[in-house]
Amino acid sequence: MSLTKDFSQKFYQRLMGDYDSSLSEAGIKGERLAKRLAMLSEIGLTTEGGSSRMGFSKEERAAKELVKTWMKEAGLDVREDGAGNVFGRVQGRDKGEPTIMSGSHVDTVPNGGHFDGTLGVLTALEVVEAWKETGYQPKKSYEVAIFTDEEGSRFDGGFSGSAAMVGDLNREEQIKLIDVYGNSFQQVLEDDGLTVDGYFASERNKGEVVTFVEVHIEQGKQLEKRDLPVGVVTGIAGPCWLEVAFYGAAGHAGNTPMNDRSDALIAASQFIQQVERLPRETSPTAVATVGKMQVHPNGINVIPGKVTLTVDIRDIHKETRDLLIDKIIQLGNAVADERAIQVDYHENIRIKPVPISFAMQGKVMKAVEEEAFSAYLLPSGAGHDAMIIGRHLPVAMLFVRSIDGISHNPKEWTALNDCVVAAKVLKNLIEDLTR
Ligand SMILES: [Zn+2]
Repeated sequence: MSLTKDFSQKFYQRLMGDYDSSLSEAGIKGERLAKRLAMLSEIGLTTEGGSSRMGFSKEERAAKELVKTWMKEAGLDVREDGAGNVFGRVQGRDKGEPTIMSGSHVDTVPNGGHFDGTLGVLTALEVVEAWKETGYQPKKSYEVAIFTDEEGSRFDGGFSGSAAMVGDLNREEQIKLIDVYGNSFQQVLEDDGLTVDGYFASERNKGEVVTFVEVHIEQGKQLEKRDLPVGVVTGIAGPCWLEVAFYGAAGHAGNTPMNDRSDALIAASQFIQQVERLPRETSPTAVATVGKMQVHPNGINVIPGKVTLTVDIRDIHKETRDLLIDKIIQLGNAVADERAIQVDYHENIRIKPVPISFAMQGKVMKAVEEEAFSAYLLPSGAGHDAMIIGRHLPVAMLFVRSIDGISHNPKEWTALNDCVVAAKVLKNLIEDLTR
């Protein structure tokens, strides 16, 4: 047996090992979900047991083609747009009604996990599989979506598919992109059987789709801590990346007395330590992280003359996120004043957070409670296709418990019981939305 087959068989057995088969009901089947997760795990399998399916790669393409065959078997009307997004459609009873959509992505980060994205696509499809058994016919149309290149490992960006669907693109800038292998955007598209013109023509008419729902692994530990299989997402945080530079004076570590120094690293450390308390003082969902730092000249016997560092600042509400940015800048100024050194700031990105409406949160809560679980509310710190789509139409997100919060890693895991609960909650929600 090949290593790949061997892996996917073990993966399937591990999923089924602690599965409570009484959860398979009303047409939702844990065995089918497990089998599909396992089959997708074979595509782009790495030697460490992870998944490498970069956006627009032949692996992402193979994963899409496999899901397309399942979509067709489930009776969906399948089409692909110019951005490589795949849509499988169930025609609603009422032809005049707009469409409800659910899905996610099948690309992964290099050596990523087997649930990120994939679970959202497969649960969306499982809803249709269930309808085949229960005979449910939605009044509104329903589409299962696979969005291209969500992770952005190829162009250091991401959301290439969902952004094309909602028309959030700047053609001039997009066509200048060069991928990690040095290929042009046009070349990358053509290698995947797509064209630049087709890509920019894939925007869907406004009003055609009215709601988007995304099921996704949590990639954190909040649900695990509360012993809950799923959680209701309250909003998707928009990041701001701030680059901060402290300028002191480099000097000899031996010949400069302690009272005659402008040490940029001491100022930076004072700043970093205080950054930690600011999110808490600003909003319960805000976070800030100093993740990168460079010390100049970085010598063992030289007083640091310059330090640059990055602060990643997020919240699900724009007001508090922007307030936190201001507080961090004030902190930097105060530290620089106190230590008589210079500071400056450069903002790399500032993406608008996407709050999820209370009405949508309420619908998801109801769908969770129908499965007899308490509806726990939590924000999404990471970006998702729902963030891009949420700028244009109402979105909802359901998080599924991650083991130890591990993600973007071969160790990423979500128990099949939780995957099945998520599929059932999604089915409740989609039936509510398509009624
Ligand atoms: Zn994802």
